[in-house]
Amino acid sequence: MSNSENEFSISKADVEKFKRFDIQHRKCPVGPVADKYAYTFVPTSLGVAITVKCSCGQKILLGDVWDKDIVGVIEEEHKPMTEQDLANQRFEDDALGIIRLKDPNVYRMVFNAEQSFDIIYAYAMGVAEKADERISKAILYRIGLDEYYGTKQNYPGNDTENIQRFYTHFEQNIRDEIKKYNCKNIELLDELYPKESLWR
Ligand SMILES: [Zn+2]
Repeated sequence: MSNSENEFSISKADVEKFKRFDIQHRKCPVGPVADKYAYTFVPTSLGVAITVKCSCGQKILLGDVWDKDIVGVIEEEHKPMTEQDLANQRFEDDALGIIRLKDPNVYRMVFNAEQSFDIIYAYAMGVAEKADERISKAILYRIGLDEYYGTKQNYPGNDTENIQRFYTHFEQNIRDEIKKYNCKNIELLDELYPKESLWR
């Protein structure tokens, strides 16, 4: 973190935070080419926000913007990431990508068209193909089995009804999955529990 023409300062508190982060991440790998830590500097009206990302994927926010209470350094929050943490993070991102399309405005921005169940379904299937199995498990497939093991159509309604049906099923399954571990993805929690404030 050297000074250039764009000078910024790092507070003593930040230096302390970073030292503690560095100690926690002592054992994380240092690549042959890349540095162990990647720094991102974002100038804002409140100061320079600094994100330091370790090779394990964990990040810490420094700088005036997030100082004070928002990011108290709780060591638990900045633990080195395990394979499972990374898998959970990818799973959450994939789930969030699908859930966001429920909002007609987001959908319009992404596809430049009016919402269509077929497209949402196709998109979700595409994500599921590359994602971990928790995504495909959360999808209500077009054809299901009835109680006599005969096939039944799961989406007999119009577009609006089918989209609703898809998301009711999907979101419930994602909620069940993230209950199994300590999910801290605020964006995802906001989508899944829009009226509850206890996550904050
Ligand atoms: Zn690390």
